Amino acid sequence: MSLGEHEGAASAAEHVYEHEVKAMLREAGVPVPRGFVVRDLDFGPAAELSEPLVLKAFGPGLVHKSDAGAVALGLTARELPAAARAMTAKVPATIAGFLVEEQADAGVELIVGLVRDPAFGPVLLTGLGGVWAEALRDTALRLCPISEQDARDMLGSLRGAALLDGHRGGPPVDVDAVVKLLMAAGGPGGLWERLELGEFELNPVIAGPSGVVAVDARHLPGQAPARPAARPPGDLLPLFEPRAVAVVGASTTRPNFGNMFLGFYRATGLPLVAVHPTASEVSGVPAVPSLARADVDYALVAVPAERCAEVVRQAYGVPFVQVMSGGFGEAGHPGLERELAEAARAAGTRLLGPNCMGVYCPRGRQTFVGGGVGPAGSVALISQSGGLAGEVIKVGERRGLAFSRVVTVGNSADVTPAELLRWLARDEETRAVGLYLEDPRDGRELYEALRAADLPVVLLVGGRSGQGQQAAASHTGGLVSDRRIWEAVAGQSGAALVTSQDDLIGVLAFFQAHGSRVTTGERVLVVGPSGGASVLAADAFDLAGVRLDPLPGDALESLRGLGVVAAGNPLEVPVGPLGRAGLVPEVIDVLVRRRPYRDVVAHVNVPAFFTYGDTAEPLYAYTRAVAAAQEALPGVRITLVTRNGECAPPGVDDEVRRIAAAAGIPVYRSMEAAAVAVAAGGRYGAA
Ligand code: ADP
Ligand code: MG
Repeated sequence: MSLGEHEGAASAAEHVYEHEVKAMLREAGVPVPRGFVVRDLDFGPAAELSEPLVLKAFGPGLVHKSDAGAVALGLTARELPAAARAMTAKVPATIAGFLVEEQADAGVELIVGLVRDPAFGPVLLTGLGGVWAEALRDTALRLCPISEQDARDMLGSLRGAALLDGHRGGPPVDVDAVVKLLMAAGGPGGLWERLELGEFELNPVIAGPSGVVAVDARHLPGQAPARPAARPPGDLLPLFEPRAVAVVGASTTRPNFGNMFLGFYRATGLPLVAVHPTASEVSGVPAVPSLARADVDYALVAVPAERCAEVVRQAYGVPFVQVMSGGFGEAGHPGLERELAEAARAAGTRLLGPNCMGVYCPRGRQTFVGGGVGPAGSVALISQSGGLAGEVIKVGERRGLAFSRVVTVGNSADVTPAELLRWLARDEETRAVGLYLEDPRDGRELYEALRAADLPVVLLVGGRSGQGQQAAASHTGGLVSDRRIWEAVAGQSGAALVTSQDDLIGVLAFFQAHGSRVTTGERVLVVGPSGGASVLAADAFDLAGVRLDPLPGDALESLRGLGVVAAGNPLEVPVGPLGRAGLVPEVIDVLVRRRPYRDVVAHVNVPAFFTYGDTAEPLYAYTRAVAAAQEALPGVRITLVTRNGECAPPGVDDEVRRIAAAAGIPVYRSMEAAAVAVAAGGRYGAA
């Protein structure tokens, strides 16, 4: 046999031997050791290899070779026959043959794996430690295909990245070669495109000063799940702004969800009809016997799950039907859900839900919350939970958010978050989108929609800590957690990933306030009263991933005239009832003129303003001065933090927010919340 010969394609799927996988790798541009395969104990070709050599046995039951005694390192060509005999005697499994290969020099051992995530499809994982990767959990993950920048970012993000720069005075690893290997595995046209064959695991890959080599390779056969074809987004406007709506399921005798919705719609004044088999009106709303008789753009269905399909079958001519009822896939009845989706398809209507609350759109008088609709605005929300969407609407509006469209999707049997996102990204009224998801359905399609969206997107994912991963067959599989995947999705698509409802609202508020501002700087400045708050501010921004660069060395000179005694960042300035209201704006002005800042965070300790009296006027004067500064400096985004605001008399916080909002300044109650928002904003608004 000649060097590097392999046995053609991996025909017997259960036994794709190491040398066959390595042949695939070599073809894909991944360096593997030179070697050959013997089945007849003729080790003659070893003469063409450089010693030391490695001998590995392969066979149907041999998976973890070293555990079975099927790997021998550091051999000369002459030692091969004896080593093979010894191995045959020792290895308990059937040996089909031997792989002889050159032994790579010691170096930094890495794991490189390609697996298919059930929702997001092909992902590439790399990590330090090779066989110890699972114990170290020092890994990085990206969805395929990756870019070269992704490959470099992956390596840079490892905790042990410094090992690649040369450990303890050793020469640095050839990082370009590692990047090239990662690209060959996960880049455009790479090995990942062959994932339909199953998973790949290169473990270890040995990286040294003069290159990399994958010294072990495994392949776990599998089958690619069929991916549902993505629908081109339809015109979703009537979903948000229907001419008229119908409600199916309201009762004449026992008020239920249907009756509740009749009440909501009557409050917003949307033209309305009830569907009832016998009554001519329900709760004072005129009724028709079937959806077929309703001339509406949107029908809300709130009847028991078993009857929903039959109702939806009558919806021909109604562009959108929302099924509020639960009791479908989520309750263990996938058959009912399929039947419902088929009924919608047959009627030519688009289905929202089932198991969802519907749509909120002040502009379209659409709602699923009581108390009428709030102001129309530019923030959209897609939510897999109706309850959470209701909370975000109520709390968000209380904090000054104004929504363009809110849509809850429930089980997404037809209309998906991805389709909605694609539509909202092009919607004239929408400037930022929040997403609350638990299960992405077709995650790959969602990822692509996120990448295509060129407006700010904020992602809140529930259940990320969930034990969603089934017992994984490979190290790589065991290292791919839901949390890591979502971090990769956000990182690669530019979406901001937040971890709480509060931050979802806070980041959306940032985009609402600053959305149209174009910033010229990259740096962030924090200004406020001295003390522990400034120290903690630095920590909060650090945790959010925002660097607070030191001020220029001669900044203190320009600031001294203003009574500033130390020029740090956070910059400590006297803020309070005794300080001048205009001091902070003057400081900002001086610094912004010296060097461009993208964000300036001004913070106050609210109770300090009430130390010498109970008038809020100094606080308002301060806020007005900061508002004026924002109006005078369109190239910087000013954010206000009103710490300990609950200590102010009632109404004060609202007035501060009102003054700030009028100038397009978002207000946060904590430094942590502001830091998360400023971090999210860092990806947008660059000139
Ligand atoms: P296993 O099936 O046990 O994972 P490997 O092929 O990974 O077997 O071999 C076990 C170890 O031997 C590897 O982790 C690596 O440290 C070392 N090794 C294997 N092949 C080579 C090689 N060609 N060059 C250098 N070291 C090797
Ligand atoms: Mg191995």
